[in-house]
Amino acid sequence: MNASGPGAASPAIEVTNLWRSFHNLHAVRGISFTVERGKVVGFVGANGAGKTTTMRILSTLDYPTAGTMKVCGIDVVDFPTEVRSLIGWMPDHYGTYHHMTVLEYLDFFARALGYKGEERVERIREVMEFTDLVPLADRLTDKLSKGMGQRLCLGRALLHDPEVLILDEPAAGLDPKARVELKHLIRILAEEGKTVFISSHILSELDEMCDTLLFINQGQIIHHGSSESLRRGTSGSSIFSVDLIEPGDKLREWADTNPDVKFLDGTRNGGRLEIDSIEPEVIGTILRRMIEAGLTVTQFRQEERKLEDAFIEILGQIEASGVPIVS
Ligand code: ATP
Repeated sequence: MNASGPGAASPAIEVTNLWRSFHNLHAVRGISFTVERGKVVGFVGANGAGKTTTMRILSTLDYPTAGTMKVCGIDVVDFPTEVRSLIGWMPDHYGTYHHMTVLEYLDFFARALGYKGEERVERIREVMEFTDLVPLADRLTDKLSKGMGQRLCLGRALLHDPEVLILDEPAAGLDPKARVELKHLIRILAEEGKTVFISSHILSELDEMCDTLLFINQGQIIHHGSSESLRRGTSGSSIFSVDLIEPGDKLREWADTNPDVKFLDGTRNGGRLEIDSIEPEVIGTILRRMIEAGLTVTQFRQEERKLEDAFIEILGQIEASGVPIVS
């Protein structure tokens, strides 16, 4: 399947006012978003935010209580079989079968997908090469490490060459090397034009590989945008790390007398300040005031806002206003 396939003009994923309730618990509360084709989108939220619930509906494993969800223009509830041929689903937990090797496992699923003869052999070969499973062909699946198991699970999701990949917490529990390998595979898939929808509750994990981030909190989308736009935030402030000759307490004392500066945290000889502006002139003036106040500044460096800080800031704004912010 490629961009000339069904619904070629439609977005890869289109969600409109989607609800999923379990009795009185509203796991997903009227979310709407669009994922364009060929994009890698990170779906981020705390435990219980509604990520898996959303992904299960997208993967045709559950029904929405209300609203619609489409994959490449095809409704997941009305046409689940067609949607299944377009998606590759990698759940957060996958079952292995005892006494089955990696090759037998993939062969089993390739048969279930209807591949026959040479075509089946070719599909399995391609997937095993891509996920670097060739050396593990004869290894029993229940004897794989976590990282190898995730690669097998990804391989299984890729067998029918789907247009859209839905990966639920694929990097959970992986060691740093396995994470790097997984990121690399996801980037290659994106370069091949696949759409990748990937969940995590660890922001830094998604930052490098995603084009945009979609934040869900208590069943509602609270932000959809690039990590840069998230870092810039909605507050228009910037964060600086400051080193002094004097003890760090002096920086705190100075910041306490300057209303446009907030002391965030301190070190032995300095600390981090949040300045109420992103304008270079204003920032320059603040540095001059600091020096005029007698502080010996040895380093003054703008820090990248941590995504986690930006996320918490958005949550704080929502708590204060009660209105989700979607940019
Ligand atoms: P995690 O990061 O922990 O996997 P999540 O964002 O994937 O969390 P979901 O699994 O979607 O969260 O769960 C959202 C909410 O819906 C939770 O409060 C969960 O307990 C509830 N929930 C999910 N499935 C069911 C179900 N089948 N019956 C009842 N409640 C459910």
